Amino acid sequence: MERPGDIGKENLVRCGFRDCHQCCLETEMILTQDDLTRIEALGYDRSEFLLPTEETEGFLQLRNVSSPFGDKCYFLSEEGECTIYNDRPRGCALYPLILNLDTNEEMIDEDCREREWFREQTYHQSQIISINELVSRLMLENSNY
Ligand code: SF4
Ligand code: SF4
Repeated sequence: MERPGDIGKENLVRCGFRDCHQCCLETEMILTQDDLTRIEALGYDRSEFLLPTEETEGFLQLRNVSSPFGDKCYFLSEEGECTIYNDRPRGCALYPLILNLDTNEEMIDEDCREREWFREQTYHQSQIISINELVSRLMLENSNY
């Protein structure tokens, strides 16, 4: 039986809860330089979708805009879809898998609505490597991390 999150290449665990976009509201997602390059190649200007770096200690952080359902990521449509889904930041693609910086362990974010479901899943080794690589990359690119 197909379950949310089982869809995708190599059966990677991904969010398939189409009725939820909680993590795209009041987002604080940080982008890598590669994320920025990929999204700008779609025709967006960084000043549209990022907060000014003077406000973020130099981090490339997604901007929120107001909407009928509260402050939402610039890229979240009013129908609740990510409008750059195939090119979304790596942190968005991996979420709710995160790295606990205190313990250096991969974990499921407490803020995810379906955290219990995600905690029961088996993660592909490439996802574990990816979240560690992503955090290493962000640390290299941001001295304030
Ligand atoms: S880029 Fe897409 S997935 Fe990431 S927070 Fe914005 S709408 Fe959500
Ligand atoms: S909060 Fe969790 S269940 Fe909801 S869209 Fe984000 S990852 Fe999916």
